[in-house]
Amino acid sequence: MDIRDTTIDAIILKSRDYREQDKLLTYFALETGKGVAIARGAAKPGGKLRNIAQPFCRVSLTLSRPKGGVSFISQGLPQSSFVSVDADLSAIVYASYISELSDIAMPEHRPSPRFFALLLTVFSLLKMDDDHARTARYFELRLLQELGLLPDISACDHCGRALMGGSFHLSPKAGGLLCATCGVGDGSPLICAGAVQTMRRLVDSPLVRIPSIRISAPLMAEIESALTYYLDYHLEYSSKARRILQQLLD
Ligand SMILES: [Zn+2]
Repeated sequence: MDIRDTTIDAIILKSRDYREQDKLLTYFALETGKGVAIARGAAKPGGKLRNIAQPFCRVSLTLSRPKGGVSFISQGLPQSSFVSVDADLSAIVYASYISELSDIAMPEHRPSPRFFALLLTVFSLLKMDDDHARTARYFELRLLQELGLLPDISACDHCGRALMGGSFHLSPKAGGLLCATCGVGDGSPLICAGAVQTMRRLVDSPLVRIPSIRISAPLMAEIESALTYYLDYHLEYSSKARRILQQLLD
């Protein structure tokens, strides 16, 4: 091993074919944040890096010093696999959605131990907890928190109306929660007070409590529409994985 090589603890977000026999990996590492690296020969049968070039795996990677901005993986050791290729389709599609969102939202080379821990958590939840939609909403809220984009959602930002009933807008334009009266013409979806309260519980609860937070289908649909609108506004993208999810779940 070259003395200038670095070893990182990474979660593979994406693995794409690259040239004939290589894979281009997008990862999020504890030490260095998001990055890309090439796994030579990982696409050919028997390639020594084949077993680490899988999405949704935690791996230990040794990277060569970048040449022309590109790092190569000289060694890789699989640590754990969260969502295997033989897992149910829903878990795989949700894992793809979470990876895609992470790739789009997180800047390159900015480490965040908190986001690394969040990824470990959500991938473990996808494996253990059947309610994948709840895990996705939990992730979206925590991601917004990580990006500093999650406003206080305990009352109307404008008039102070509490979450005792009525409807609200989670407004990215206003950067906060607005009651139906204050948010007339805002354009974001109108959701009930119960949906806002449930989002608060998802944000505030410790991980072990998440699987016990019950969310009815109508409430889940409201939370999803509010968060989709909010994320799209800030990240300016239309998720490919989300479209696949919708086709799958419809
Ligand atoms: Zn108000």
